Amino acid sequence: MDTILNIYNTLTRKKEKFVPLNPPFVGMYVCGPTVYGEPHLGHARPAIAFDLVFRYLRHLGYSVRYVRNITDVGHLEQDHDHGEDKISRIARLDKLEPMEVVQKYTNEYRLKMMLLNVLPPSIEPHASGHIIEQQALVSRILQNGFAYEKNGSVYFDVEKYNSKYRYGKLSGRRTEDLLSNTRDLEGQEDKNNPLDFAIWKKADPGHIMRWPSPWSDGFPGWHLECSVMSTRYLGEQFDIHGGGMDLLFPHHDCEIAQTVAGQGREAVRYWMHNNMITLNGQKMGKSLGNAINLEQFFSGEHKLLEKAYHPMTIRFFMLQAHYRSTLDFSNEALQAAEKGLARLFEGWK
Ligand SMILES: [Zn+2]
Repeated sequence: MDTILNIYNTLTRKKEKFVPLNPPFVGMYVCGPTVYGEPHLGHARPAIAFDLVFRYLRHLGYSVRYVRNITDVGHLEQDHDHGEDKISRIARLDKLEPMEVVQKYTNEYRLKMMLLNVLPPSIEPHASGHIIEQQALVSRILQNGFAYEKNGSVYFDVEKYNSKYRYGKLSGRRTEDLLSNTRDLEGQEDKNNPLDFAIWKKADPGHIMRWPSPWSDGFPGWHLECSVMSTRYLGEQFDIHGGGMDLLFPHHDCEIAQTVAGQGREAVRYWMHNNMITLNGQKMGKSLGNAINLEQFFSGEHKLLEKAYHPMTIRFFMLQAHYRSTLDFSNEALQAAEKGLARLFEGWK
């Protein structure tokens, strides 16, 4: 454990020497998938990047508890806190129980990560399995005066929080700028301020995923689960929190605010974020028609793919780039990685 590990901390925007809180133990939490569709490259990159961190910390002799969650409730379409739950929507369209959707895509995710040689985390908690703890945090935030109840939903009071702490510190966003960018969105009427976000949401009559609570039959806000499950398994303070850069705001900034509002101090010491993946220089997305899932990469069955690519080629290709750089996928680049990997395997003979 004498080897020095330097980590770029997104919070301080500096490379810092890694000093764990309680050596030889290290606690690491990484935001996992919302399980409502086939796993894709956007799932593979954080899984592979933090798999490397996990393996390296163990190699240095640390005893690592790696927690990576499964989001199976509360993640609404477009990441807003109104609209339909992503999992409920697929359940409705495919005529399945929401938990069948969750099980199906959790199985798919685990299988694909195994094929990519990603080690399973130490604990893989489900948001739906921690509703009681999430309600307890909502109560604490209410008690501490950083939230208010309106028509059965509970909203985080950003202005109140900002009078004492700094909302948006991780992404560097300022509330003045955020306010000038807010649009009038449907379902926002109950909020005192457009920046406030739901930590408990009253379920509409048609909403199938719901739990009883002191405020209403409803469900937790998406950001809440990570505040709860990280500290539940790693303690009030822990070493590393990871995830994709797309989660910086609002997800991780809200997570920090909730945790501080609940326990009076931040939980995370080192924030690490992996960058995004592009395909032929373009952002990937279902609406752009260039979203290729991992199954299609492994089988080659997609119009943009010239051939099938072995999972280890994908892993090798991802690890050739720095995790904080964007990475562009193309047939050409993948085939170059394939050759490089084959040469590496040749060398072992
Ligand atoms: Zn998260």
